Amino acid sequence: MSVMIVTGGSRGIGAAVARAAGLAGYGVVVNYLRDAEAAGSICADIASDGGRAVACQGDMAVVDDVAALFETAERDLGPVTAMVNNAGATGLAGRLDEADPDMIRQVVDLNLTGLIYCLRAAVQRMSTRHGGQGGAIVNISSRAAELGSAGDYVWYAASKAGVETVTHGLAQEVAQEGIRINAVAPGIIETDIHAAAGDPGRVDRMAATVPMGRAAPPEEVADAVMYLLSGRASYITGAVLNVSGGR
Ligand code: NAP
Repeated sequence: MSVMIVTGGSRGIGAAVARAAGLAGYGVVVNYLRDAEAAGSICADIASDGGRAVACQGDMAVVDDVAALFETAERDLGPVTAMVNNAGATGLAGRLDEADPDMIRQVVDLNLTGLIYCLRAAVQRMSTRHGGQGGAIVNISSRAAELGSAGDYVWYAASKAGVETVTHGLAQEVAQEGIRINAVAPGIIETDIHAAAGDPGRVDRMAATVPMGRAAPPEEVADAVMYLLSGRASYITGAVLNVSGGR
């Protein structure tokens, strides 16, 4: 069985990816930070569709939790062949000169440093250089990486630019070791992240700025992720796929 880890798989885009992975026949490890009930309900959904899933609590900004996540995956489901680095946060929306430094550090620790820890752990296990069987990885970036998020969360945008840079670089580093690494850059997606940033009306407000005139449900992002993980994307590595309605 192919085994996929989805970080932040309990809600939003991660939950949609976890469900799609279960339907595609992967054994799925649904990582979460706090919401055990949401993670359990995604696992139950996957099981009721005939798949296998386990929930695993862990803070993806903490390197020991990243290692423990892989140990759980290998013990409960088998060697990991796919990974979606999705766990992320914006912090409270606002100008940089009014932002709390600890919040900025927490966002960068999770979105960038933690994601790099996850990639390191994945390469150590998947790379043929280390006796692994290879695999595919998708990092969840954001259109913020290019647009900059002025007035909202420039620190978040900067962390996502780092996600795209590590995607380009590491994809080349492991290109001959059986691992493909790509990124998906979502635009305005209907999840809890906007309310968590203190701006629950953001999706409706921003939808008008999208060339296609609408935001998107997380399933439309999950479809792009599943494509990049699949054999149909066998010659694609180091790419960033915008899923943003033209924005
Ligand atoms: P969300 O609805 O707020 O869900 C966040 C998920 O990440 C939850 O499963 C949460 O777990 C988990 N999480 C948070 N902190 C964590 C940590 N330290 N360790 C492990 N898991 C953690 O967010 P979303 O909108 O789906 O965002 C998912 C990804 O897409 C993020 O990387 C985000 O930057 C990116 N993105 C989102 C949008 C958008 O418009 N929504 C646009 C561009 C990019 P709990 O349930 O336990 O809290």
